[in-house]
Amino acid sequence: MERTEHVTCTFCGCLCDDIAVEHEDGRISSVSRACPNGRAHFLDYASAPHLPRIQGEEVSWEEALAEAARILNAARSPLLYGLSSASTEAIRKAVALADRLGAFVDSTSSVCHGPTGLAMQAVGEPTCTLGEVRSRADLLLFWGCNPAASHPRHFARYSTAAKGRFVPEGRKGRTVIFVDVRLTPGARSADLFLRVDPGCDFEVLTTLRALVREKPLRGTEEACVGGVPLGVLRDVATRLKSCRYGVAFMGMGLTMTRGRDVNVAELFRLVAELNTYTRFSVIPMRGHGNVTGADQVLTWQSGFPFAVSYARGYPRYGPGEFTAVDLLRRGDADAALILASDPAAHFPSRAAARLASIPTVVLDPEESLTARGATVWLPTGKAGIDVSGSAYRMDGVPLRLRPFLAPRRPSDEEVLGWLLEEVAP
Ligand code: SF4
Repeated sequence: MERTEHVTCTFCGCLCDDIAVEHEDGRISSVSRACPNGRAHFLDYASAPHLPRIQGEEVSWEEALAEAARILNAARSPLLYGLSSASTEAIRKAVALADRLGAFVDSTSSVCHGPTGLAMQAVGEPTCTLGEVRSRADLLLFWGCNPAASHPRHFARYSTAAKGRFVPEGRKGRTVIFVDVRLTPGARSADLFLRVDPGCDFEVLTTLRALVREKPLRGTEEACVGGVPLGVLRDVATRLKSCRYGVAFMGMGLTMTRGRDVNVAELFRLVAELNTYTRFSVIPMRGHGNVTGADQVLTWQSGFPFAVSYARGYPRYGPGEFTAVDLLRRGDADAALILASDPAAHFPSRAAARLASIPTVVLDPEESLTARGATVWLPTGKAGIDVSGSAYRMDGVPLRLRPFLAPRRPSDEEVLGWLLEEVAP
């Protein structure tokens, strides 16, 4: 039995890098310090080599790669989708492949934090690292997110309960405010919970901005904005202005509800204005382990974070037009390469039905629903377990992913490199 320390979990954007794993003969037997999601990420991973499949039948790697290249070469309008659970190096190869094919390329950002990218482009993002949050933040504002379920170690490692250099008391030294449409498990431990009426985040954010800037507002202290009494919002505005170092975390309760990017832009404006009075930052709660890396690579390769078309030989940006769900719904993609994601399980039914009707090449360590229905399934290794790579944490800090099992499958990066050689420019 061998024990490896300082393993990085890539299940969610926290990228906890303090995990200890015990393993023997290529099998993981125990995992320490991970949350239940992280434990499943390691323990459910079957590192035994699988053969690739064509239409569900096992074939050799040579046959599978030849068929994958044939599908991509024959397509007039291919789509490359997913990216967010692959290594940064693999994502880079995927974008190069999209460029070579004249394809559309989109990541899972388009169905979670795409609006955050739009807001960032519109008003900028005053941000910081999770290390600064841990060391300095004495006020934490969680808006439209539920870290207790989605990022279970966030509180202990980085935010509410973490003991930091300038917050040695941990939870006692921090004020925690939650804003959501319902009382989530994490919100139960908050100092203040604001229940917002569904779809009214923008109104509440705008009012908070006005109160921070001390604009005169009509109405009594009991009058509600988006379900929150004005007196409560005035109290929140005062707390936000008078903290020493505040950080806002926002999730899909803000990005995927009425207003979307307009909501996020309003939060970014509020955070920027708070810097007139104190120090304040914002960090989006990114879900998939390397979804931040997908945005980074696409931006440095094409200039845009998601929804990119190379169909004219140069990158064009089209949220709502070149986003995977919209392309599939319209029937505009005639083949797809899916990298480390499961759109068949998560896309709206019309987009999923279209995906099932076109030839698909799937690179995924897991035999997901999308992999099971794929024309070609290429079972690759997993970065941070049996292949190497790197990934970006939710705050944009890149981390090296060191494998602790001997590789028994090719990496996504290798497979995409082979395909890149095989497809016609
Ligand atoms: S919080 Fe996220 S990164 Fe950390 S162990 Fe849990 S799933 Fe893994």
